[in-house]
Amino acid sequence: MATASFALQATVAAVAAALNGVAWSAAITYIVGLSALVVIFFCVFRSGLNLRAKEPNLTFVQVLSPLLPALYLLCHIDSLPVRAGVLLTVIVPLLYGILDLSIRRFLAAALAYFVTYFAVFLLVGARNLDHYANPDEWIVLITLALLLVQIGFIGGFISGLRGSLRRKNQQLNAAMEKISDMAVRDELTGIYNRRRLMEVLQSEVARSARGDAQFSVCLFDLDDFKQINDSHGHPMGDQVLTACAQAVAGMIRSVDTFGRFGGEEFLLIMPMTHADAASIAGNRLRARIAGLQFLDDEGRAFNITASIGIATSSRDASRETGAILQRVDEALYAAKAAGRNCVKLANNHD
Ligand code: GH3
Ligand code: MG
Ligand code: MG
Repeated sequence: MATASFALQATVAAVAAALNGVAWSAAITYIVGLSALVVIFFCVFRSGLNLRAKEPNLTFVQVLSPLLPALYLLCHIDSLPVRAGVLLTVIVPLLYGILDLSIRRFLAAALAYFVTYFAVFLLVGARNLDHYANPDEWIVLITLALLLVQIGFIGGFISGLRGSLRRKNQQLNAAMEKISDMAVRDELTGIYNRRRLMEVLQSEVARSARGDAQFSVCLFDLDDFKQINDSHGHPMGDQVLTACAQAVAGMIRSVDTFGRFGGEEFLLIMPMTHADAASIAGNRLRARIAGLQFLDDEGRAFNITASIGIATSSRDASRETGAILQRVDEALYAAKAAGRNCVKLANNHD
């Protein structure tokens, strides 16, 4: 956009020179100056130097930089109508401030534009003494001042709207992130919910069906949890659930997925893990849960244990998520039947 407006200004200068409104030497120097600015900004943005600036868009600098070539060109135009015409294109870069500048900086930029033209006014006046007696010169100067004040306010206002829109968008994105995180998390314990577990399980099943990567799942069920609720109250039960969930979540590998499968049941999905390794991990987690100490309202300590069933994906059969879940459930049932607080491996039916 800046290059396009520089091209417009260069064209206007060339037309003015062709129609004898300004000397060719001045017009060419001006065009060279503008081209140098385009090259400099291109290099700065390409090299990433702008990223070191507090304002990486460099909007303020880009808005102010064409003022020096403009000052040079306008000083060389004696004819007021030509100068006023060229002035119209010279103020175009100020409008780019709408993209970024605050109202204060926009007004500061507008003031710089006015000061530049005021310098032109004085420099032309120094050459031509009739200048100050010419009311048209004053009309152009005053009109420019009023115009710049208006542009400053309107541009700053629009820029403010853009800024608040940007902030709203950021808030919206943050909210969207939060919502999508909430959609996969269990409200009570903060770990993944059943929806997320099923997604991961399905993708693990698909992956193991494609290649030779075996995975294992551990199904945890807290033992006699109903009694915890009955003797210590439901809120205490909630605390126990959360503590167990957090304890296990803090001990698993980053590639594993652990979540709440239902009431007091948790599922751990371990990619690329054989039955033996899963059994070791399951026992470690079982011992961790059994080692947790809780205090009831009367200050009495109590413990909780978990029974764990483990199933490993098989190569030939059981490629359905339902099948592996059924096997892990059977293993859990076997662990309960064996007296609870233990780990049992599912039989591979294939
Ligand atoms: P078992 O050793 O055979 O697993 O016995 P259990 O008492 O744990 O099994 P059961 O399935 O009979 O009881 C599960 C209990 O978990 C019943 C239910 O009230 C409780 N429960 C489920 N979800 C929550 C919850 O979010 N908070 C609390 N406090 N309790 C829950
Ligand atoms: Mg249960
Ligand atoms: Mg239970």
